[in-house]
Amino acid sequence: MANVEAKTTYLVIRTPEKSFYEGPVEEVLLETPEGQIGILPGHMVMAAAVTAGSMSFKVKGKWLNAFLSEGFVEIDQYKVAILADTAEWPEEIDVNRARRAEERARERLQGQLSHEEYIRSRAALQRAFARLKVSNMKNG
Ligand code: ATP
Repeated sequence: MANVEAKTTYLVIRTPEKSFYEGPVEEVLLETPEGQIGILPGHMVMAAAVTAGSMSFKVKGKWLNAFLSEGFVEIDQYKVAILADTAEWPEEIDVNRARRAEERARERLQGQLSHEEYIRSRAALQRAFARLKVSNMKNG
């Protein structure tokens, strides 16, 4: 029998608030603490943390971009399941809000912070940067 390789994997992106995306995709690019990973159909079983940043996936030859905040991904041969704190399309991102968040985080980082406050402020700055980047990415 011919070995027919699957051309798509099934992507599910959920947040606690909503189902953000669900459907067959040809490729997924995700940010993890170890750097960006690319996921193709037939990927080995794997679980990883997702860091706040841009993510992209290819549907019928077209790349779609979105912002994801911190989360978790489970991958197997047939699917990529992401649970993230928040997910936003470029056009949903309020650029002024992200700029204000960036400004606040920068100000906090200039002061005396506990380790926990430092980690939280760095994470807020990273989310703001990533939102500003994704807001410039057009889909379709
Ligand atoms: P802020 O300080 O502006 O709330 P944040 O990074 O702390 O930013 P999150 O905790 O990541 O915010 O998100 C809280 C909620 O606000 C989520 O529903 C998220 O989608 C929404 N949100 C946050 N920032 C933006 C933005 N710039 N544009 C659109 N929605 C945003």
